[in-house]
Amino acid sequence: MSNQFYQIKIKAYKYPRLTGEAFYYFGKLLDTLVSLKNSYTEFAEILTFLLYYIEYVVGGIEMDYTLVYSINNEKSPETVYVNLTNSCTNRCIFCLREQKNDVCGAEMWHDDNYKLEDVISQFEAYKPTPKEVVFCGYGEPFLRREMMKEVCKYLRANYPEVKIRVNTNGHANAIYKTNVAEEFKNLIDTVSVSLNAADASMYDEICKPKISNAYEEVKKFIKACTDAGIKVSASIVTGFDKIHNIDTKKCEEIAHSLGAEFRNREFITNGY
Ligand code: SF4
Repeated sequence: MSNQFYQIKIKAYKYPRLTGEAFYYFGKLLDTLVSLKNSYTEFAEILTFLLYYIEYVVGGIEMDYTLVYSINNEKSPETVYVNLTNSCTNRCIFCLREQKNDVCGAEMWHDDNYKLEDVISQFEAYKPTPKEVVFCGYGEPFLRREMMKEVCKYLRANYPEVKIRVNTNGHANAIYKTNVAEEFKNLIDTVSVSLNAADASMYDEICKPKISNAYEEVKKFIKACTDAGIKVSASIVTGFDKIHNIDTKKCEEIAHSLGAEFRNREFITNGY
């Protein structure tokens, strides 16, 4: 085996998520070439990912894990964001992950292969201590439920004045088949749950959920959070295309009926 091939193999193991996706996109590329049915956009998406994969994994560029970051790389921000995972049980059509690899220059992709101390040391690098920590990033934070719990416990013990928010797709209770909201009621202050639509069929179209009955599960999760005494903001994103006309008023009514506040986020190309 040549040395170069050996290096590629090592990197491929080191970044299993990227490698998995590379196989997926290689498959799609073959499909596209054979059937010629896919659109130009889809073809461009496939090529973009493969070039990215080749650059990092085959090209041997080391990826810096961005676990904690600030908007515009600010050194003394009021809010820092925690990027615990790139996995998600949705594949929203407006998701930034479909368009770019970074937020404000912070490389967001990683393979979850890090420790609690890594998150803590990246958080500690921000001075003075930020006022707010938001779990979001390129993925669903509750998919690293235990890691998030440990980070929250660390923050509560060492920085009780820091407010903690989680931006979530609201699938946690359905995934773990337990009341995750109850587990986190003393560890987080607010959650922002992506409601994203006024009914299940629109939700499925926009979010492409990998769990069944997702829209109902999201609503149940919002209610579970408000019942647990966690402040909830149910959000939708509008303006990402001209096809999906989301019934904003109905979404607002649903949010309020579940005890949550409502937020309509205008889609911004860069997400910030
Ligand atoms: S829930 Fe969030 S991270 Fe997951 S696909 Fe949708 S926008 Fe992206």
